[in-house]
Order: sequence, then C-alpha cells, then structure tokens
Amino acid sequence: MAEKDMLKFVGVGQAFPEKRPAAERDDDFLEINRAYILAKAEEQASRCSQCGVPFCQVHCPLHNNIPDWLRLTAEGRLQEAYELSEATSTMPEVCGRICPQDRLCEGNCVIEQSGHGAVTIGSVEKFITDTAWKEGWVRPLRPLSDRSGQSVGIIGAGPAGVTAAEYLRRRGYEVHVYDRHDRGGGLLTYGIPGFKLEKEIVMRRLARLEEGGIVFHYDFEVGRDMTLAQLRAKHDALLVATGVYKARDIKAPGVGAGGVIPALDYLIASNRKSFGDSVPAFENGSLNAEGKHVVVVGGGDTAMDCVRTAVRQGAASVKCLYRRDRANMPGSQREVANAEEEGVVFVWLSAPQAFDDNAGKVAGVRAQQMRLGAPDASGRRAPEVIEGGDFRVEADLVIKALGFDPEDLPQMFGAPDLTVTRWGTLRTDHKTMMTSVDGVFAAGDIVRGASLVVWAIRDGRDVAKTMHTYLAARAGASATKAAA
Ligand code: SF4
Repeated sequence: MAEKDMLKFVGVGQAFPEKRPAAERDDDFLEINRAYILAKAEEQASRCSQCGVPFCQVHCPLHNNIPDWLRLTAEGRLQEAYELSEATSTMPEVCGRICPQDRLCEGNCVIEQSGHGAVTIGSVEKFITDTAWKEGWVRPLRPLSDRSGQSVGIIGAGPAGVTAAEYLRRRGYEVHVYDRHDRGGGLLTYGIPGFKLEKEIVMRRLARLEEGGIVFHYDFEVGRDMTLAQLRAKHDALLVATGVYKARDIKAPGVGAGGVIPALDYLIASNRKSFGDSVPAFENGSLNAEGKHVVVVGGGDTAMDCVRTAVRQGAASVKCLYRRDRANMPGSQREVANAEEEGVVFVWLSAPQAFDDNAGKVAGVRAQQMRLGAPDASGRRAPEVIEGGDFRVEADLVIKALGFDPEDLPQMFGAPDLTVTRWGTLRTDHKTMMTSVDGVFAAGDIVRGASLVVWAIRDGRDVAKTMHTYLAARAGASATKAAA
C-alpha cells in the first residue's frame, strides 16, 4: 500500500547513484554514474510523498506520471512502472540520463522545496527503463491499424523526428525518415558525448524503430537530393524536424585563426571516434584537444559537453569563459560540478575580445572582465564591461559554444514558400503545427529554437497527433470521392 511504502523522505536521505571518481572517469567516454541496485531504486522511490498536485509532473514537458511510477517502483512492481513511464515518453532511459532534472521535475519536487532533497526522479526513471530493456519488457513497435495506403516523410532523425515517426507508425502509416547524417539520433548521437549518453542506448532505440517498419534514408539532404516539393509529392504529409545547427559566431579580431573551431564540429568528431569511424580532422589534430591548452567560450550545456570532452582527450588545460556568473549560466549546475571535479577551470564574468593569431594559429584569448548590470528586456541581468579589466589566457584550441540558430531552410530546401519567423525558425500554425506549405508540418527546435531534448520529444508527440488528423481527413475525403 502506498501509505506503507511511500512518504519516507524524512527518514531516508536523498541518494543519487554513485558517481565514478573523477580520476577514474576522466579518460574514458563511459557514463559517469553507476546504476542503482534494485533495493536502492525502491528505497529512493519510496521517499516520494505522493503529492495531490505533483509539481514534478506539472513541470515535466511530457507530463510523465511520475508519482505513480515512483509508487509502483517502491512496491517492486517494476514492469508496471516501466509501462506507465513509456506511456508518455518514447525514450525514458534517454530522459533519465540527460534531462536537466534539477531545472524540471526534481527542481520542483516539494521535498526539494522543503529542504529534504528532491526524489531522485531521473535516476529512478533510468533504472526502470534499463531494467525493462534487460528483462525484455520493451515491446516491439507494431502498427495498431493498417493505414499503409498513406505515407509520411520526416526530415530529421533527431528526437522530435523519431518520436513522431514512432507514433505515426503505431497508427499504421508508412513512415520514411530522411537524415543528412549517416546515422540517426541527431544530437543524441553526434552532439551529446558518451559520458552522458552511451551511444548503444540511442542505437537500440533506432533499431527498434527500424524493426517496426520505419524506413531510414541516411546521407539524404533535402535541397541536394530532392527539393522539398519533390519530397512532398512522394508522401501524403511531411514533417520538418531538422533541429537548429547554425553555430552562433563571435565577432572579434583573430576569430578566423586556425584552431578556433565551432563546438558541434568538435563534438561530432569526438562522437564519431567513439563509433570507431575514421575522422581525418581528428586524426590530424585539428579537432582533437590532446596536449592542448583549450578555451571553451560559452555557458550552456554544449559548452559543458566540450570542456568535459577536452578533459577526456587529454588536454593540457581546460578553461571555460562565460560572460555571466555561475548563478546566471544557462547550463545545468550538476554539469558544472562534474566539470569542476574533472579539473575544468571556470572563468566567470569574462568575454573574449580578440584571439591572438600566431602565423595562422591561435595562441591565446584576450578577454575582458565583466559585471552584471541591470536586467535587460528578457529580465536577465545584462553583462557590462569593466573598464581596464582585460586579461589574456593561453590557448591553442578555442571552441566556440555560443548556441545555435536555424539554418536558412527555404533557401536550403529550394522552398521559397516556406515562411519563417524573424528568428529564422519555421512559422507554423499553433494548433495544427502545419507550416505555410499545405501538408508540411514542423516540430522541435526548428520551430521552438534551440531547446531541450525532452521538449523535442513532446513536440514530436504533439505533431504526430495533428498529422494524423490531417491524414485521416484526407483519407476520408478520398474515400468519399471514390464512392461518389
Ligand atoms: Fe513525489 Fe516530489 Fe513529485 Fe511530490 S513533487 S509527487 S514528492 S516526486
């Protein structure tokens, strides 16, 4: 009974799965947390107070039924806990690993607010889904009805695209996913390093989708291999779920020097090496931090991924320059703590002004000390330059991790009728999620702007519903026409 098994937060302390010591983990790309054992997962789940209004669930973009699957876990009913967690998420084991729970479910857990330390929701979610894979509880993807007369094309095999693909396939549509990379998963595969998300986790999800009949077309670029209109003509509906990949740049003298590189190029090279691929730019040293003094510019999760990757590649030193302070950075505080344990030095309140160019190679970063001024239009305190507070940091590899903007899709796709917002994201109808082109939908970061994986999953789930409504109406109209 819930009363017996739950509400133990006063007597049972918060315990995350054990982290591997920094000295053990700082030269490999394996995940840093060890797994819970069953008894520990049950114990930690039992701390939940089963709130009448569960703020954990309210603040989860997927509105996962967290209190219910915590109770089932505490009662030892793991298979049911898994079934409940996968009812709202296409990849709970991924969310359990990479969601910034400290800003979402756990950050809003009432036990956290009362000073007892949040229920370790993410770690329990990871445990029950990993157990489900081990025990064979993850069911194959099977269409629940036959709508094979209609096909859907999805551009982008990242979390939004594959989530929509799964839900649409489940409804019985023929689903084709097109991606410009040679593997699916988008940033889950090529952006996020293995120490946060081991690649096997993503690959087994993709394999399940393929076994369920979803057809993946890799190395396929819309605009090069087919225009958007040509692809649209092949399918009854299209979804654009490309994500946002255009790196924001720094405008400063010397930024063009060799060794000043975009974060994503660096992370993709490293992740490719983890797959055992040949990556010439890594092998010739251009995208490899080994033995180098590395400076990463930025304070988001991508910057955290870069600094921690550089440590594992054997950098001589790793510094992170961010123009705001620790409390005002966008990246997860847990990631900062992990990076510091691994030897990364954070230089808060500092912004690059110029890059020293020594015969075409970067030799250092000239930076400026900042302070936080009055809040700007967004409510965040704007950084201001401290006059005379300039300093220099030695660097032979500088990684720019300032975030991502949308690419110019109308131009890339040869689709001038695809309208965009002033930020370059695709303009969609808020209700139908359809773009300005009939039958072409859009979801994920390409609509929302750079955001969390869990929001992409949510958008994929939502757009699958609106696409189904559209396709069902079309099928109904054709049937009426044929009968007339
Ligand atoms: Fe349990 Fe915390 Fe969610 Fe309340 S907010 S239901 S205590 S996990």
